[in-house]
Amino acid sequence: MKVLLTVPHAACLPNSPRRMCDKRAFEAAIILRNALLSHQKKGLIKEVTVYANKTVPRSIIDMNRSVSRGTLWRMQLSELLQRQPSFDWVVDVHSFPDQHAWGQKKHLAFEFLYDLPHFPHWFRRLLLDQFAPEKFRTGRIGVDLGKNNDIMDEVLSRSQTRNPSTKVFLLEVNEDEQVFPLEEMREKLQDLVSFIVKTIKVQ
Ligand SMILES: [Zn+2]
Repeated sequence: MKVLLTVPHAACLPNSPRRMCDKRAFEAAIILRNALLSHQKKGLIKEVTVYANKTVPRSIIDMNRSVSRGTLWRMQLSELLQRQPSFDWVVDVHSFPDQHAWGQKKHLAFEFLYDLPHFPHWFRRLLLDQFAPEKFRTGRIGVDLGKNNDIMDEVLSRSQTRNPSTKVFLLEVNEDEQVFPLEEMREKLQDLVSFIVKTIKVQ
């Protein structure tokens, strides 16, 4: 299995007058990558690529919107997505401030494009049934329909013709370390990876 982790909002420049990056998204992607690679020996994971935008702040251009498709970062992403064999999973990794609409002390949030016909319904069901319920009770996980997530859109439009089984979702982590301490973030992301690896086995 080949996995791509995209981090479009990782350009965090010091002393910015306004919020322009996802402060913990890159850190979360690295934790995810390491957790995925820990399954490499069992032959389940073949390759994990982290593709982050660390140069262009969101206040200049939002790399997760269609307007950014002509930028170097997006064009290189398109090249990555065209390579064969294609990625089996793409996770678009973000972080949000605790005051965000996702907030309310949430730890993780997921977005899917589950209205599209080729969206893997089984995955959403598995996620909701097997991974989320316990955490839903604590109110720490949000799940929403993805809107305006152009990276997901591009992955899915390419996968229709290239690899119909490519799965993609957007993951958000709370960037307030008081609310979501590093150890807990590591634990939950490892849980998520174990869940994903389990879904590979049941396929
Ligand atoms: Zn973001």
